[in-house]
Amino acid sequence: MELDLEVMDGLLRPQSIAVIGASNTKGKIGFSVVNSLIEGGYEGPIYPINTKASEIQGLKAYKSVLDVPGEIDAAAVVVPAKFVPQVTKECGEKGVKGLIVIASGFSEVGRHDLEDETVRIAHEYGMRVLGPNVVGILSNSDNCNASFAPFLPLPGKAALVSQSGALLIAMDASTFIRRVGFDKLVSIGNMSDVNFADMVMWLGQDENTSCVSLYIEGLRDGRRFMNNALSAGKPIIALKSGTSAHGAAAAASHTGSLAGSGKVYDAAFEQAGVVRASNLNNLFDRTLALSLQPPMQGDNLLIVTNGGGVGVLSTDSAERYGIPLRFAPEDVQEELKKHMPAFGSARNPVDLTGMAGRDWYSDSTQYSYAHPWVDGLVVLYCETAMTDPQDIAEGIKEAVGNSGVTDKPIAVSFVGGERSEAAMKWLVENGIPAYNEPDTAVNAMAALREYARNQHAAAKPFQKYTDVDEAAARAIIAKVRADGDRDMTEIESKGIFESYGLPVASTRLAASEDEAVAKAAAVDGPVVLKIVSPDILHKSDAGGVKVNVEGEEAVRTYYREILANAKAYKPDADVHGIAVQEMAPWGTEVILGSVNDATFGPTVMFGLGGIFVEILKDVTFRVAPVSSEQAFRMLSDINGAPILEGARGEEPKDRAALAEVLSRYSQMIVDLGDEVLETDANPVIVYDEGDGVCIVDARIILKS
Ligand code: ADP
Ligand code: MG
Repeated sequence: MELDLEVMDGLLRPQSIAVIGASNTKGKIGFSVVNSLIEGGYEGPIYPINTKASEIQGLKAYKSVLDVPGEIDAAAVVVPAKFVPQVTKECGEKGVKGLIVIASGFSEVGRHDLEDETVRIAHEYGMRVLGPNVVGILSNSDNCNASFAPFLPLPGKAALVSQSGALLIAMDASTFIRRVGFDKLVSIGNMSDVNFADMVMWLGQDENTSCVSLYIEGLRDGRRFMNNALSAGKPIIALKSGTSAHGAAAAASHTGSLAGSGKVYDAAFEQAGVVRASNLNNLFDRTLALSLQPPMQGDNLLIVTNGGGVGVLSTDSAERYGIPLRFAPEDVQEELKKHMPAFGSARNPVDLTGMAGRDWYSDSTQYSYAHPWVDGLVVLYCETAMTDPQDIAEGIKEAVGNSGVTDKPIAVSFVGGERSEAAMKWLVENGIPAYNEPDTAVNAMAALREYARNQHAAAKPFQKYTDVDEAAARAIIAKVRADGDRDMTEIESKGIFESYGLPVASTRLAASEDEAVAKAAAVDGPVVLKIVSPDILHKSDAGGVKVNVEGEEAVRTYYREILANAKAYKPDADVHGIAVQEMAPWGTEVILGSVNDATFGPTVMFGLGGIFVEILKDVTFRVAPVSSEQAFRMLSDINGAPILEGARGEEPKDRAALAEVLSRYSQMIVDLGDEVLETDANPVIVYDEGDGVCIVDARIILKS
């Protein structure tokens, strides 16, 4: 649904609120919501709606929203599910903008009918529905706690959208001990109407939100989410649970079974510029950094410390999180040496030694933060008897201010006791993310780097190939459909691949032995013979592939043998004939594949190859289409990447050609996405740089 800002503002920043099902009985949700609004200091009018009471918690109550004299922006609905459609209708007539349906008992217990009915009525009146089955919405900038969570979160600049209500309430409480401030918390519940894509778009334009944190169990409308995330213009960080269950839908192909591991979500988030969080702590820690600091635009991370131990630990962390440390240039080292004793180190990490007090910290921080080589700064401090953590904290803050720099990130870690904790609290309140663990500070910096990197990559859009023949591909599909098949043979599949300019090994169908001999004779060198049947997908398993076949006699012998094998393997198989194929020279085997993901639609896979692909699972995904630049990056994603780069004295492989093949492949599955369920090309043989790629086997499975 299109986002109507006025309506969404009414829902999420309401100027007036009705609580339908408000109650005077403590312990009821209808009590809590009214109480939360009052306790939270909500300044707009609160209209309790109750069919019996004339007063609720000191406020005048009404029997129906239709009796309320003033306008109502949002209605929090806490009546039993079966009354919600009727209440929705009344809200529509009243001109309410948004419904916060706290009531449960909808799709989560199988009552899709009630949920659909509610949304249908709401849309008739131009209203939006948050939920059902939500905790509510909380907004510090509006003093609005329209929820049954007891209090507003620690104020700050982040926003949290959670698919779990219980987690939202728990995280609300933990904002205070974690020192991570939020302006808004939104419980998104069953997502019958307002979903993550809507929230990301709305929060993208919300002036009080600098960073959006998401707890996601499953996305609806994955593509729209990706587009909206990309255009949000602020960091989005996602904790995704349930990745293992995602692929539960049975899949026929290699690619299908490999896609079930959450790798598609990984890819989609990366493509959408969304930063990942690995657990709840990590979500908070990364949110703190992303809400307070600008992105890290390059790879040069400098670490300043007073202790060798935390220095080495953070060096390990930097490597683990993908920003390995480099030594600072000579001029930086020369200058830094002035702010440390002779036994310190000006390399990276910069070790000021345990003697470092406020001045050394402040001088070296100010200098390095301002130096153009430095893209991001992590300052570590081990509490000592000689120094005061608060003094160091103030020195760091002062240095940051004096440097005049506002476009690069800094994160801090203090290791120590209560004095350090207090100093870190002060730092966070002053806009500098601080953590009691060096690894966390480096991880937070990695989040800032990831954000910048993903944004950068996403800026290069896919350009459609125009030298493709979609109509020819569709004609092949139509013919297969007319035969009542869904599994396309290698010959049919290759026909489609060819119409997208993909380099397939030339393949001819022979319906008789003599025809096979003639077609083999027309090929230079040895040939490959393969069974062609929509009922035999794994041809080798059926004894249906003979490679390196040379000479008429051999062709005749193997022609018969393959047919006999096929008959033995599957007596009732519909056999179209035998494919005669040129024999591709030996090279590096890779696999390309695609699935039609339930959430993101057509998705491509690349992996290193052949027969071990399902065991090694060394594959990477991208939501299609991908540009050849993005495809090129996919080639480095896998563990086996060095094999393509030319490992152990091997020539580098033709990655540019492979990237283009992947990119064209991705266009093919998007163009034909209404028809095609899964595809794979296994193996694809990659040759040395400049020598190209050859697809020797191809498979397409159509949607049913
Ligand atoms: P399937 O996967 O259905 O068993 P393939 O067409 O992939 O059948 O063939 C099995 C194996 O035979 C491939 O993995 C590849 O090693 C080899 N092969 C198939 N076609 C060719 C070809 N044209 N040139 C070279 N080797 C081939
Ligand atoms: Mg194969």
